[in-house]
Amino acid sequence: MSDLFKKITSHCKEYGFIFQSSEIYDGLSATYDYGPNGVELKNNIKDYWWHSMVKMHQNITGIDAAIFMHPKTWKASGHVDAFNDPLIDNKDSKKRYRADVLIEEYMEKIENKINKEITKAKKRFDDFDEKMFRETNNRVVENQKKIDAIAARLAKAMSDGDMADLKAQIEEYEIPCPVSGSRDWTEVRQFNLMFNTQLGNIAGEEGKLYLRPETAQGIFVNFLNVQKTTRQKIPFGIAQIGKAFRNEIIARQFIFRMREFEQMEMQFFVKPGEEMKWYEYWKETRLNWHLALGTSKEKYRYHDHDNLAHYANAAVDIQFEFPFGFRELEGIHSRTDFDLKSHQELSSKKLQYFDPQENANYTPYVVETSIGLDRMFLAMISNAYTEETMTDDQGKTSERIVLKLHPALSPVKCAILPLLKNKEELTTAAMDVFNKLKSHFLCQYDEKDAIGRRYRRQDAIGTPFCVTIDFDTLENGTVTLRERDSLEQKRMPIDALAQEISSQIALHNVLQ
Ligand code: ATP
Repeated sequence: MSDLFKKITSHCKEYGFIFQSSEIYDGLSATYDYGPNGVELKNNIKDYWWHSMVKMHQNITGIDAAIFMHPKTWKASGHVDAFNDPLIDNKDSKKRYRADVLIEEYMEKIENKINKEITKAKKRFDDFDEKMFRETNNRVVENQKKIDAIAARLAKAMSDGDMADLKAQIEEYEIPCPVSGSRDWTEVRQFNLMFNTQLGNIAGEEGKLYLRPETAQGIFVNFLNVQKTTRQKIPFGIAQIGKAFRNEIIARQFIFRMREFEQMEMQFFVKPGEEMKWYEYWKETRLNWHLALGTSKEKYRYHDHDNLAHYANAAVDIQFEFPFGFRELEGIHSRTDFDLKSHQELSSKKLQYFDPQENANYTPYVVETSIGLDRMFLAMISNAYTEETMTDDQGKTSERIVLKLHPALSPVKCAILPLLKNKEELTTAAMDVFNKLKSHFLCQYDEKDAIGRRYRRQDAIGTPFCVTIDFDTLENGTVTLRERDSLEQKRMPIDALAQEISSQIALHNVLQ
């Protein structure tokens, strides 16, 4: 873990964002609990997603399907037969890895070499042209060729399910175990990622139930229920937020890869032949959704899939630069009519749409957008985490850690702080302000410690506004409003607070 990433994970614990699940029993790996500030941030992210999907689109409605589904669902979707990861064990460390991830990390090492060459060259030349450098520098060209060849071979082995070739690649590239450093590997085996459990009193295969590994299938099986009850015409979408479960082989990197996590998915049903148009539309729309929060454009990039899943005819990831590098945050997939057709076949129920314009029935194609809520949480926290040195009027410097979250996402919107704790007139006036504001947005009353320390506590959880109640408040009904990032303080009447703060934290500001 990088130093920054370690700091972020411990900050999350110290300030009540995320706790290790079952910590008193030494924790359960890759499962986490969200604390008081964490649940607020998570709910605000959900709100932003839900509003932008459901409220902003007349043709998208939501559902909330059950986690348990009929076991045939997972046969039809291909998860029983094909939802596998290739696993490999190191015989010396006894550690288990995903074979494809070991190869990807090897490619990343070569990419780092290229990046180093570029950084060096950038320093040397004022009018540095990165594109030209990439095309002409021998070492860079050679390394890029290597990466492209490995990527193509990996994609082929994955789509052919060729476990022997994955093993051969690990041996050829002389990839060592990150823990023991040894190259004594087992064979590569397929490992199904679905958790299963047993239904009531039905024993054996008959009663075998799965915990859903994605929320999408709850939408596919309800496709006609929703279409008929909402009278939607194609194109239309169904949105859902819910838990998903995957028995991940390696579950490192905090909440980036968990065994129980939440997804926010939207399946958009379109006329066959129009899927690429909608795929491009959602690719752009989803990136804009991220950028509307004010996060720098450089933090995001598209990454086309080399290895398409069995149901897809196009797929792209929106990657985010986490503290450990660019990784998938969201996927946009053109899923063809694979899912609806498979469910239709296995259930023998017609899952078609009657198009009044065409006067014909057809199975719609689907473009989906799928984002991990927890990954979005991690992206937002890592992007917001800032260590700052501040200088006061007398030139004295001090440090602060501040979470520069977009105000619409911040867990607490406003802290109400009486200047002194032991002056009853101040604490009473501050409680009055708290009571006035609490129905508008989440407020926190805090009277403990010096005012500077209280500001620091609010900065650390990303509270955009602090209201201080002092002796002038008792005289003229005004307070100081302090803004988190600019540290600007202005005086304003108590009666103006609700409107001023509401206007700055409103989701409306980011919805487009
Ligand atoms: P990865 O390649 O990282 O395993 P994936 O391609 O399997 O991800 P999808 O099946 O496309 O992921 O799932 C959609 C989204 O769900 C991902 O973009 C990611 O944000 C989230 N997600 C998937 N697996 C996990 C997990 N184990 N923990 C947290 N979020 C996850």
